[in-house]
Amino acid sequence: NDQSIAQVPCLGTRIFHSLVKNDSGFLTTKEIKTQFYELGIEYKNQKLKKFFKNLDILEDPNKITFSDFSKAIKDDLIFLEKILHKNLVIPDFKNFCDEITEIFEKTKANKDGKVASYIPQLGRVNPEKYAMSICTIDGQQFHLGDIKDNFCVQSSSKPFSYCMALEDLGSKKVHSHVGREPSGKGFNELTLNEKGLPHNPMINSGAIMTCSMIKAHLDIADRFDYVLETWKKLSGYSYIGFNNSVYLSERQTADRNFALAYFMREKRAFPEKTNLLETLEFYFQCCSIELNSKAMANIAATLANGGTSPLTEEEIFSPSTVKNCLSLMGSCGMYDFSGEFSFKIGLPAKSGISGVIILVIPNVMGICIWSPRVDHLGNSVRGLDFCQELVSHYNFHMYDSLVSHNLEKKDPRHHKNKS
Ligand code: GLU
Repeated sequence: NDQSIAQVPCLGTRIFHSLVKNDSGFLTTKEIKTQFYELGIEYKNQKLKKFFKNLDILEDPNKITFSDFSKAIKDDLIFLEKILHKNLVIPDFKNFCDEITEIFEKTKANKDGKVASYIPQLGRVNPEKYAMSICTIDGQQFHLGDIKDNFCVQSSSKPFSYCMALEDLGSKKVHSHVGREPSGKGFNELTLNEKGLPHNPMINSGAIMTCSMIKAHLDIADRFDYVLETWKKLSGYSYIGFNNSVYLSERQTADRNFALAYFMREKRAFPEKTNLLETLEFYFQCCSIELNSKAMANIAATLANGGTSPLTEEEIFSPSTVKNCLSLMGSCGMYDFSGEFSFKIGLPAKSGISGVIILVIPNVMGICIWSPRVDHLGNSVRGLDFCQELVSHYNFHMYDSLVSHNLEKKDPRHHKNKS
């Protein structure tokens, strides 16, 4: 609009001068990209899409004048202003990444735990693998380790199946079929609550239940397409795959999940007209979705951002859906360690038997840690270690703010009331 165009010269001057680091009076595309990269703003970041595109079509990328520059920034002014004023949620991103790298290296030495082997496809994964990705609510990204490897999501699909059911049917209907209480038992324990319903959506019975409610009126193939498409949107259109061998193995090793489903059917827990076999297969398919840690961190960041992707600014889930989901991740997301995790780490998270943990710091960032060696409860050993180190270093525990006066913990966040 007219007002933002009027602001261009003055804001443009400030941004231009803040980026020029020598006496030449010119910028190069490479210099600009490097400086943005240090802030965690990658080239593909949709918030600066037009800006980067405008830079790409300049005649001389090694000699960008002020006039070229002010034309290039026109379309992405708001976000550029945020960068200039150091208003990104993690203003000193470079320093933050250095410290995260130290935590990553330190926890890498931990070789405890064993790779899950109840299906051969998991048993064959290289135990040494370790990846960590971060995406902030401003789309600042940082990655370490085996970030190109895909892994299957397993139980980390459960929060998203729950969100999809909520989006479709609302909390009242969904919770007439599944509770909200930690079960206090193993994730696949043959047990239901006193109403004959699964205890919560983060354990197997509850996730089979939420799967039965996702777009139930559609054909099963369309339902799976919907799920994949939702994962793609959540991840800012990263690669989301499907591991068919994992799916086939899950289906073959599924006596307990069948038992849970029959138990629920006996108690009339499912919505009317639920097809039991189709629902179970759908649940195994959701567990067999695969992606890498970068994509998963983007997804976690969408939760941290209240359901809107920080990379594409598309709203995928409503804030109230995300609020419900994070509440249950906080109480039930980490298998039989959920209470301990909530006490020690104080953040919503969800783990999967493939060694993935997604950690959400609401209004700040999403983190994905993937390392296949898991402990006897099913949580990634290095993943837990990483979370512990993270909250020892930073005041990210939900209740750290109550004791901030005596804490030596750092706060890397930008606070609106600070300059
Ligand atoms: N697909 C597994 C099952 O249903 C879930 C494993 C997990 O907890 O990640 O048994």
